[in-house]
Amino acid sequence: SYDELKKCTNNFSDSNEIGSGGYGKVYRGMFSDGQVVAIKRAQQGSMQGGLEFKTEIELLSRVHHKNVVGLLGFCFEQGEQMLVYEFMPNGTLRESLSGRSGIHLDWKRRLRITLGSARGLAYLHELANPPIIHRDVKSTNILLDEHLTAKVADFGLSKLVADSGKGYVSSQVKGTLGYLDPEYYTTQQLTEKSDVYSFGVVMLELITARQPIEKGKYIVREVRLMMDKNDEEHYGLRELMDRSIRNPGTLIGFGRFLELALQCVEESAADRPTMSELVKAIETILQNDG
Ligand code: ADP
Repeated sequence: SYDELKKCTNNFSDSNEIGSGGYGKVYRGMFSDGQVVAIKRAQQGSMQGGLEFKTEIELLSRVHHKNVVGLLGFCFEQGEQMLVYEFMPNGTLRESLSGRSGIHLDWKRRLRITLGSARGLAYLHELANPPIIHRDVKSTNILLDEHLTAKVADFGLSKLVADSGKGYVSSQVKGTLGYLDPEYYTTQQLTEKSDVYSFGVVMLELITARQPIEKGKYIVREVRLMMDKNDEEHYGLRELMDRSIRNPGTLIGFGRFLELALQCVEESAADRPTMSELVKAIETILQNDG
């Protein structure tokens, strides 16, 4: 209830605020049984928020997967719109990569995070009924739980594929610059392969720790420029790599990981793998490590 949510966040005090998005703020709360939750509270009177909230509730109440952030409940009372989620104590993947959260992600951990979030997305694409295109895959929408397990979050922009009946979704674009499928500009359509493109950008972030666009430069293009076919160990990429994992030759499956990331960001959707193909490929890398 509203009163309970109000109480467990100390009346939505600033000290319990953990983030904010387009629609409003996110608060940390604790229920009387000790369970910690994240509460998304829409800004009062934001129609847009209302619509996005409804989409998110509809989608999340159908989705159950260990790599998708679970919705615990919602509250529409006294003009308030709130969604209650499981709390993800280790924040967003972006925070870890930028060094702000103080969590060091070693290469193996990065592989596991890739696998987890790819599984979450593959589930949405292929197992959720009806299938769901996320439409805003990015490192700030991948959250880490207490075991650093990755979970996909933020369904505000998602749409059911079945809504359109055509296997794709067309509407005005709202995804994030730097992650957006280049085919969208010509086709005006977002497909599962658009999520794959965005995910490829996230994989490049895992290698470089850079944002998709920094100082006007696109990470996808920067990585391609550094690639040299005769450099099998990919030492040419060293300059661009995250300091803490800077030696490609010592990283298991690095070459394969890079190859997969670059396939995901192919200009043409047909050249990109599906999410479940990607899941299998990452599983293979991790298995080969024993
Ligand atoms: P946006 O709309 O900008 O994508 P979100 O609504 O996903 O933002 O959330 C804003 C911020 O709140 C996130 O960047 C994250 O730091 C935090 N956050 C969101 N959901 C959770 C959660 N379940 N657990 C912990 N922190 C969260």
